[in-house]
Amino acid sequence: MLTETARVTPLTSANAAHMFPALSSAQIARIALHGLIRPITQGEVLIEGGQTNVPFFVVKAGEIEVIRPSGLGDLLIAVVRADQFTGDISMILGRPALMRLRVSESGEVVQLTRDQMHALIQADAEMSEVLMTALIYRRIEMVAQGIGDALLIGFAHSAATLRIKAFLTRNGHPFKYLDIDGDADVRALLDRFRVDPGELPVLICRGEKVLKNPANHEIADCLGFNGGIDHAHQRDVVIVGAGPAGLAAAVYAASEGLDTLVLETSSPGGQAGSSSRIENYLGFPTGISGQELAERAYAQAQKFGADVTIAKSAVDLTCKRSPYGVRLEDGATIPARTVIIATGARYRKPLLANLGQFEGVGVYYNATFMEEAQLGSDDEVIVVGGANSAGQAAVFLAQTGRRVDVLVRADSLSESMSRYLLRRIEETSMIQVRTRTEIVALEGHGRLERVRWRDGAGAVSTHDIRHVFMMTGAEANGGWLNRRVALDAKGFIKTGPDLTTEDLAAAQWPLERSPYLLETSRPGVFAVGDVRCGNVKRVASAVGEGSIAISFVHRVLAE
Ligand SMILES: Cc1cc2nc3c(=O)[nH]c(=O)nc-3n(C[C@H](O)[C@H](O)[C@H](O)COP(=O)(O)OP(=O)(O)OC[C@H]3O[C@@H](n4cnc5c(N)ncnc54)[C@H](O)[C@@H]3O)c2cc1C
Repeated sequence: MLTETARVTPLTSANAAHMFPALSSAQIARIALHGLIRPITQGEVLIEGGQTNVPFFVVKAGEIEVIRPSGLGDLLIAVVRADQFTGDISMILGRPALMRLRVSESGEVVQLTRDQMHALIQADAEMSEVLMTALIYRRIEMVAQGIGDALLIGFAHSAATLRIKAFLTRNGHPFKYLDIDGDADVRALLDRFRVDPGELPVLICRGEKVLKNPANHEIADCLGFNGGIDHAHQRDVVIVGAGPAGLAAAVYAASEGLDTLVLETSSPGGQAGSSSRIENYLGFPTGISGQELAERAYAQAQKFGADVTIAKSAVDLTCKRSPYGVRLEDGATIPARTVIIATGARYRKPLLANLGQFEGVGVYYNATFMEEAQLGSDDEVIVVGGANSAGQAAVFLAQTGRRVDVLVRADSLSESMSRYLLRRIEETSMIQVRTRTEIVALEGHGRLERVRWRDGAGAVSTHDIRHVFMMTGAEANGGWLNRRVALDAKGFIKTGPDLTTEDLAAAQWPLERSPYLLETSRPGVFAVGDVRCGNVKRVASAVGEGSIAISFVHRVLAE
C-alpha cells in the first residue's frame, strides 16, 4: 500500500538530471558484459528494504518503482525507466537497502551483483563517474528530504538528541526528525510504539525496532553500518581513525590492492568533518563543507574496496611484532600485518567545574549547521580559542547577524590563524575579539544560562549568554595506545627522524634499518596526521601523510 501519498515521486523533483541520467545503448552494452540480462515481471519485488548484498539493475525495457517501506505507510520515491539504473550509495558502502524495488511495468534489465558492480566502477572510469555521481546525488537528496529508514523523536536543548542527530548526519544516513514539542502527531506515534515521553530521544529503525536513547554503536548495529565486515581475518593494513589522514590512507591502500580495514570511533571525517567550510584545501576554490569532503572520501575509500567499521574504537595495540593485534572495545582483536595510527586530536577541555553538565545544552565543541540550529536567531554566542577553528566558527556564527565574542587567553589571535580568516574577523562588525580574557564560571539550571569571564584587567563580569563554542588547543588522541609506541612530552607520537637512539633502544627496535618517515618505534606501525608529533594541523598535510604512509607500508610488506 502507498498510503503516505499516492504517486508523489520526491526524488525526481530536484537535480533529476544528475540523479537519473539516461545511459546510451553503448554504455548499457558495456555494463551488460559484467552481469546478465533477464526479464522482469510486473509486481515482482527485486529488492526488499533492509536486504543486504543488494544487486544493481539497469532497465532496458519496463519500469521499476522505488518505494520506502515503513510501518507508517509506504512512500513512492521514484520510478526508474528505460535506460536508467537503480541504486543508492548504500550499495557501495555495503549497507542494507533503504528502499524496496518493485516492477511496475514488465520488461528487461541488466542485473549485476554488488561485487560485479564494484568491479565495474573500479575498472571503467567513465561508468564510475556516471554511476557514482548519481548515487551521491540521490543520497544528498534523501538526506535533505529525510527519506530513509530511521525516525528520530527527540526534543530541543537535549544533548542526547543532538548527539544522535550529529551521528546520523555525519555518517550521511537519511533520517526524519520529529520534535515532541513542535510536531502535533508525535504523541500518538509515541503511544503506538509504547514510548513514554520521559524516555526520549528514541530512534525507530525501519519502522519496527525502537531504540531508547541508543549509544552510537547500537545505532550503527541497528542500521547495518558494519554488516559483513570480518574482524577475524588478517589485513595487510589496519587504519585506526577515519579523519582526513585515515581516509586518504584507505583510498591509496585499497586502490593499490591492499586488504584494508579502517576503524572509526564515531563518524568519518574527524575534525575536518566538523568544519563549516574548508577554504584552503587544494582544488576547492569556493570551499567545501567538512561534511561533504568526508562523505566523498568515505565513498571513495569504499569504492576501491576498503572496509570501514563505524562506531568501534581501538583500545590497544597488542603483540610486539607483525602481525600486530588491534584490540576493539568489545574484546575482538584484529590481526594486522601493518597498522596506521590516524586517531588525530581533540580539543583540550578548560578546567571548569560543571562543564560536563552543559555539554550539548549550551557548550559545544563543533560549529556546524547542526549546533547552529540549537540557537535562536538573536542569541549571542561566545567562541573560545584563537586558532583557525575558532576563527572559522566565529565567522560562520556571525554570518546571520548575531553577535559573537571571541575569548582568547593570549594577547592576540594565534599567529597560525589563516590571513583570510583574520581579515574576515576584522571586517565583521558583529565579532568582538577579547584578548587576555577567559571564562571562569558557567551557570544555569538544566541548560547554560549565564557565563562569567575575567578580562585582562582582572575584572570578572556576568553575561546572559547561553551558547559557548569551545575551540581551544588540541591534545593527541593517543591514550588508547597505552604508550606502546614512543611519544613526545605532550603525548604526540614520534615517527622517523624524531625518534632518538634512546627511544629505539627502549622500544627494542629489532631491525638494522632506521624507521622510515612516519614509522613509529615499532616496525610497520605508522602514525599520520594530527596525532603525530610535529604535525601542522591542516587537512592537506593529514591527507598527504596518509597517502605517503602507504608507500612505506608496501616496503614493509615486501621486507
Ligand atoms: C572546526 C575545525 C575546522 C578546521 N578547519 C580547517 C581548515 O579550514 N583547513 C585545514 O587545513 N584544516 C582545518 N582544520 C584542521 C583539520 O581538520 C585537521 O588538521 C585534520 O582533520 C586532521 O586530520 P586527522 O585525520 O589527522 O585527524 P582527525 O581529523 O582528528 O581524525 C581522527 C579520527 O580518528 C578517530 N579516532 C580517535 N580515536 C580513535 C580510536 N581509538 N579508535 C578509532 N577511531 C578513533 C576520531 O573519531 C576521528 O574521526 C580544522 C579543524 C577543526 C576542528
